[in-house]
Amino acid sequence: MIFRQLFDRVSCSYTYLVASHKQREALIIDPVLEHVDLYLTLLSELNLELRFAIDTHVHADHISGLAALREATECATVMGEMAQLGCTSINLRDGEQLQLGEITIQALYTPGHTDNSYCYFLLPDRIFTGDTLLIRGTGRTDFQNGDPKAQFDSLFNKLLLLPDETYIFPGHDYNGMTVSTIGEERNHNPRLQINSEEDYVLMMNSLVLDNPKMMDVALPANLKCGRQE
Ligand code: FE
Repeated sequence: MIFRQLFDRVSCSYTYLVASHKQREALIIDPVLEHVDLYLTLLSELNLELRFAIDTHVHADHISGLAALREATECATVMGEMAQLGCTSINLRDGEQLQLGEITIQALYTPGHTDNSYCYFLLPDRIFTGDTLLIRGTGRTDFQNGDPKAQFDSLFNKLLLLPDETYIFPGHDYNGMTVSTIGEERNHNPRLQINSEEDYVLMMNSLVLDNPKMMDVALPANLKCGRQE
């Protein structure tokens, strides 16, 4: 398997490229519009054909590269079905899988950060957690139909049920961390050191956060897979 973690310095977003060594087919998770040329160069350098461009959720802090990648490569654009966007070509249900050569990736519906947030499980031992579970943090729940109760359920009743040694690859990091594991987060993530759903909701509702700088531009564009008018 070919695996690359790419970083957008402006929004501190991670983008992931996963590809089948044998079949030379690739998928990209959470591409950022400004770096589409870089992705295309990398795909060509590695001699890969892009099959799927996936967003974990409708992003508020950067413009998605989904539409631009589709136009450049004719890849399928993928989101979870709860996103209900007219611009995607594949809308995955909870538990549904995509196949890329020998690689299997499975959608896991994890609402909370938004009502259309999905994690993507790269079998057998890695999961892309979007903005649901971050390294030593969790995604905010104060806009885009965010819901701390739903996030508690996604975290404690879905993600934390995975084996401790499962690697987590988040959608963002603001502190220079790149990868963690379920066990490490279970023990050391301050947002997970709570005893009840009620405490989680109180903690999330007491956060005071500025809106992302690009929100007014990014949200309307991302409802069209990153196509700006
Ligand atoms: Fe987000």
